[in-house]
Amino acid sequence: MRLSRPIAVFLAAAAAIAMAGCVGAPTSGDASGKLTVVTTTTVFADMVSNVGGDLVSVTSIVPKNADVHTFEPRPADVRTVASAKLLVMNGLGLDDWLQKTITDASAAGTPLLQLGVDLPGVILLPGETSATENPHLWMDVKYAELYVDRIAQALGSADPAHAAAYETQAAAYKQQLEALDSWVRTQIATIPEANRKLVTFHDAFPYYAREYGITIVGVAVEAPGQDPSAGYTAQLITAIKNAGVKAIFSEAQFPAKLVDELASETGCKVVSNLYDDALGDPPVTSYEEVIRWDTTQLVQALS
Ligand SMILES: [Zn+2]
Repeated sequence: MRLSRPIAVFLAAAAAIAMAGCVGAPTSGDASGKLTVVTTTTVFADMVSNVGGDLVSVTSIVPKNADVHTFEPRPADVRTVASAKLLVMNGLGLDDWLQKTITDASAAGTPLLQLGVDLPGVILLPGETSATENPHLWMDVKYAELYVDRIAQALGSADPAHAAAYETQAAAYKQQLEALDSWVRTQIATIPEANRKLVTFHDAFPYYAREYGITIVGVAVEAPGQDPSAGYTAQLITAIKNAGVKAIFSEAQFPAKLVDELASETGCKVVSNLYDDALGDPPVTSYEEVIRWDTTQLVQALS
């Protein structure tokens, strides 16, 4: 799954940016000369900001603390999409509403980057087919690094004059993500193995769990916006009791009621909000902070 590139490429890129300096405006940008990028979620907007730096102006359609799955674009969002020189989404059912917004904005000609689609190394989770692949790949930092590669390529294509700068900034960001990935592993290792069990509101953690050695016992809803049947919830309660789950996690952008009910039925505690599809208020204002915050909550609740 690692897609390491030759160091020589990075060195060449660094040299190129040094020579290029600030000469030349982007081929396509806003009045400030920055490349206008529009993403579906705040998480992807943060990744684009890290790769694009001062060269890009990034807007997320879905606000922080909001649910991307059930989001309904407004007329203002159509105008935002119409202004984009590059559109960034995940795909795999997370944010497919963007396709209609693109049609409404007559933006079919705007480059569209789908971060999660057809990634090398993606393995289907149990019960999935290629048509129902879980979209939350970025919660595994290794996949986030693949997203960053794709962002750097797409920015470079949309703004070739600064392609080398995007490569350099992506390389630096990926080094931070490598450190983040190592940190997660050391943190999870402090949780007693028998306690490494997770119940969340929606199914956003299978890739995180697989990569970092956590077992998903269940999720409160099969899909955001759909109330679970009584039978589904009864089965989940049994699974939680049988597995000896220590805590049930709610997620910031979803109502806590259902998770609270699960907790009272099972005797589990409900712990601090996790973040996955959207950034939140400080300190959870970046992708890296999402991973750090969630990992810290897991360690505190399960140790
Ligand atoms: Zn989600």
